[in-house]
This record gives sequence, structure tokens and C-alpha cells, in this order.
Amino acid sequence: MDRTIVLITGCSSGIGLHLAVRLASDGSQSFKGIGGDQHRGQGGAPTGKQGDESFIPSQILVYATMRDLKAQGPLLEAARARGCPPGSLETLELDVRDSDSVAAAQGCVTEGRVDVLVCNAGRGLFGPLEAHELDAVGAVLDVNVVGTVRMLQAFLPDMKRRHSGRVLVTASVGGLMGLPFHEVYCASKFALEGLCESLAILLPLFGVHVSLIECGPVHTAFYEKLEGGPGGALERADARTQCLFTHYQRSYEQALSEAQDPEEVTELFLTALRAPRPALRYFSTDRFLPLARLRAEDPSGSSYVTAMHRKAFADLQAQEGPEAGASAPGDQDATSSALICLPGCASPRVASELCWPASDKPGQDKPCYQQKS
Ligand code: NAP
Repeated sequence: MDRTIVLITGCSSGIGLHLAVRLASDGSQSFKGIGGDQHRGQGGAPTGKQGDESFIPSQILVYATMRDLKAQGPLLEAARARGCPPGSLETLELDVRDSDSVAAAQGCVTEGRVDVLVCNAGRGLFGPLEAHELDAVGAVLDVNVVGTVRMLQAFLPDMKRRHSGRVLVTASVGGLMGLPFHEVYCASKFALEGLCESLAILLPLFGVHVSLIECGPVHTAFYEKLEGGPGGALERADARTQCLFTHYQRSYEQALSEAQDPEEVTELFLTALRAPRPALRYFSTDRFLPLARLRAEDPSGSSYVTAMHRKAFADLQAQEGPEAGASAPGDQDATSSALICLPGCASPRVASELCWPASDKPGQDKPCYQQKS
């Protein structure tokens, strides 16, 4: 039987936990063409207890890793609740910031190979840039960027040698576009885009595919575990910045209340795994695609910066009057055309959210696609 060996980082909570349990509970499927026993080295017996009456041979073995095994309770509880068959899930300690820990976990993979590597561990940082301790900045970059590189350096060489393997990276809309007060987090997720896009060009020559699972807001513990807490040392920022942050935080919390469930997002990982030739990017929501397209279509950056500025701070300006906020960056360019109009704005939802009349005159509240005609 071909078993697919999966290793996931950051499984103590959130997306990693749900993905581990989702894959382990689905003993019926293996991902054909990804690894399998034909590639197995010596040894590698399944870890299930074959004498156990409830033993159902699973076609997937998930190594669910986390930086501290003391935190494995919720994962094991979820695995029990979902009826993961014996031998389908193993937990390992793995701290992506520590090369020795990565090597030790790799050494515990008794099958001698990993067919699917999921680089999921991540940390957030939210607040004005000047409010972050440099240690916190370093920690986030170390987990999100260097941690991913550590995992790839450890596991890619064997995948290349075996001419088989999949790498899935939990990516973010914050890696596709800048977001105010998420500067360092965005920097880390932008870095993953460059890292994975570069590898995606090379790795198919070695039978290895890398995919980014692009997530919008997801209901997880992510915002409870922000490095340095929400806002960081906010008192370090000037009063205006503090006020803008507090305002932004409120609208951000509103956006989070519409976040996706992790179960929904984990299905996307399975879609990528089932694809014979997976794409580089999979999107958990199309909510942010118009902004991503706008960003790509105006390489100067002005259109995106203007659009996001208005999205983030428009209601503050409406409350406080036009003097309250500076004019949107890029307004000069924006007003040179009659309307700012995003590709794909023929959809009323997109139009109402993301398009606006350039002159902002009262009464000009029709979506731009109507005004154009
Ligand atoms: P989460 O519940 O906080 O999960 C993050 C996981 O990463 C936790 O298990 C955490 O473990 C682990 N982690 C942190 N530092 C680590 C380290 N040094 N070594 C190993 N594991 C470490 O949040 P989540 O939303 O599921 O986040 C998973 C991924 O999704 C992250 O890469 C995040 O950037 C990305 N993402 C999340 C959202 C969202 O809205 N939630 C949106 C886009 C992308 P500890 O419990 O030990 O800290």
C-alpha cells in the first residue's frame, strides 16, 4: 500500500491543527503520484497498532509537529473527535526557529521520507512600526521566513533526490499586498511569495511542486498569539498614529468577524494535493483578488496605495471631515481620470466595495461601472 507521509508545522492550533486532523481522518485516500512506498527506503513500518480491533490501515500518515508537545491536547482531542484511525497521526516536537529541533524531528520520521511538507507555522505582528521591539520583529521574521527556509533546507534535498514531493506553504493576503499596521508581517509573507515563486520555477525539474495557500482572515488563535500583543508598545507612537491605529483596529476587528473557518481553508490544501500539476497559488477567498489585480496592473503602486488608503481610512475621513485625513496618497494621479475603476468591477459587489468616483462629490454614489456607461 502506498502511504502518503505528510509533515506539518504549527499544529498546536488553528489551520495546522485542522489540516492535520482532516488529512489523518481521511484514511480512505492517498494522494496518488505523491511519494508512496515505491520510494521508501529501508524500514518504515506503519505506526498503527495492528493487533487493535479498531485498526483500519490509513493511507496517510500525518506527522503533526509543534514547538512544544505540552500543547498537543487540543490536537489529540480533535483527532479523537474526528475518529482518526490508529497509525494515521503522530505528534512530534519541532520548533522552526531551531535547526537542531528540525533535524531531531526529521530523524523521528521512521519512514525515512516526507512526501508532503506543509510549512504552516507563523506568527503575527500588528501595530505601528515604531511600537514594535526589534526582538519581536526578529522573532516574526525568524518564524515566518527563516523558519520556512530551515524546513525547506531540511526536506527538499531528499524530495529532489527521490524526484517526488509536494510543498505547501500557508500564505496570506498580507503577502500579496501591503496592509497598514501589518508592515513586518506583510514583509515576512511577501518574502514567502518570492521564496516560493522562485522555487516553483526550478523544482518541477526535480518532480517537486510548491504551492502557496493564500488565506484571507481565518478564525484561529492567530490574533491572540500576536508577538508583543496587539499594538505592541503603542505609547511609542505619536498621538495621530495611535488614533489611526485604534480606528483601524476597530474596522479590522469587524473584518475578522467575517473570517473564514479553518475547515474551509483546509479543503484548499487538499485541492492543491489532488492536482496532478498544482498551481503556485490557491486562494481561500476571492474577496481580495480585485485589489491584487489592481496592484499588478499599475506597477507604479499608486492605484493600489490609493485604493487601500481609502478602504482603511475612508470612514474616518467621513466622520471627521476632509481636513481630518490627508488626501489619499496618489489622489493627484487618481483624479486625472474620471473614475478609479478596478478590473472586474462589473460585479456590483466588487464595485461597491472597491471602486469610487474620483471626484468624491456628494451624490456620486453609483458604482463606477454604472457611471462609466
Ligand atoms: P495559530 O492558531 O496561531 O497557529 C500558528 C501556529 O504556528 C501555532 O501552532 C504556533 O504554535 C505555531 N508556531 C509559532 N511559532 C512557532 C515556532 N517557532 N515553531 C513551530 N511552530 C510555531 O494561527 P493560524 O491562523 O492557524 O496560523 C497558521 C498560518 O496561517 C500562519 O503561517 C499564518 O501566518 C497564516 N495565516 C493566518 C491567517 C489568519 O487570519 N488566521 C491569515 C492568513 C495566513 P504555538 O502555539 O506554540 O505558538
